[in-house]
Amino acid sequence: MNETMLSGILDALEDGVAVFDLEGTVLFLNTKACELLHMTPTTLRRIHDLPEDVHAFFGGVRSGRSETVELFGQAVRLHYQDTYQDGLRTGAVLILTDLGEQQRADRIRHEFTANVSHELKTPLTSISGYAEMIENGMAKDEDVRRFAERIRRESNRMLSLVSDIITLSELDEREILEQAETVDLYALAQETVETLKSAAMLRGVSVQLSGGPMAVHGVRSLLSELIYNLLDNAIRYNRDNGTVSVRVADRKLSVRDTGIGIPKHHQSRIFERFYRVDKSRSKATGGTGLGLAIVKHICEEHGAELKLQSAEGIGTEITVTFPAFEL
Ligand code: ADP
Repeated sequence: MNETMLSGILDALEDGVAVFDLEGTVLFLNTKACELLHMTPTTLRRIHDLPEDVHAFFGGVRSGRSETVELFGQAVRLHYQDTYQDGLRTGAVLILTDLGEQQRADRIRHEFTANVSHELKTPLTSISGYAEMIENGMAKDEDVRRFAERIRRESNRMLSLVSDIITLSELDEREILEQAETVDLYALAQETVETLKSAAMLRGVSVQLSGGPMAVHGVRSLLSELIYNLLDNAIRYNRDNGTVSVRVADRKLSVRDTGIGIPKHHQSRIFERFYRVDKSRSKATGGTGLGLAIVKHICEEHGAELKLQSAEGIGTEITVTFPAFEL
């Protein structure tokens, strides 16, 4: 491996790395180190140029130790290690970890777990309540059917939620584009329209598909999920007898509805996990609060751009623009 490759790799790290020789001269500084130290390779040439806290850390600890300091209002963990070559000490490396980022990621994870637990507990409580009434003979004959219907509805909601959580965690973890292939988005949109036809009919909503074949490099199952979520929302948040127009053309997929629309101040948040404008409407129509978070994630994985246009009481249009297709 040559020096350019090595510095490219070090620059891609989320941690800051600074390497010094025995005289305390800076031999290497990656981008994240410059960012955390608020310095550049020109202003940081020697160990003495380091901010006071960091410099003091070098003088005060032995190799292999860590300490957390506050740098420019950010919590940063410093770790210092002597470097050796053929048994001889050649200098030191300083590693800086941005705890702010880590703590933020921990908080998001924690909030997600708390939300999931809450979202699962609610339907489970009602399923168990209805089953208990039937079991204890407290439900009249005419109620049993109604209760069974509610149990089924709540179970379906839980199933959708669990399947959305699985999709999100797969998106978080796996190297998804490994399964990428050439997909015709128009054919996929046709299939999805077919799948959701009866849901649309139940609400008297008509769905129109226009455009033509459009090749996209991506993961078929995820692209299908993306179209499904957008179309499902366009039907669920529509008015009775409204319309939905799906268009696939010019590297774009757009789904436009004549529904309730999204108030301006909610628009920047609806792609967050579990964010809903109207919780009861979302739940009553079988929503999980994760559909658009999944859409956003799938777009990011495919290098696609997501745009939302919406006006309250008039309707919503979500457009996904895919990158140019290269054979
Ligand atoms: P949900 O499962 O609740 O539909 P989503 O993540 O798919 O969750 O959407 C988040 C929220 O954004 C919804 O609860 C709803 O308030 C709003 N929303 C999404 N799509 C539309 C739409 N086409 N028209 C109006 N509101 C929408």
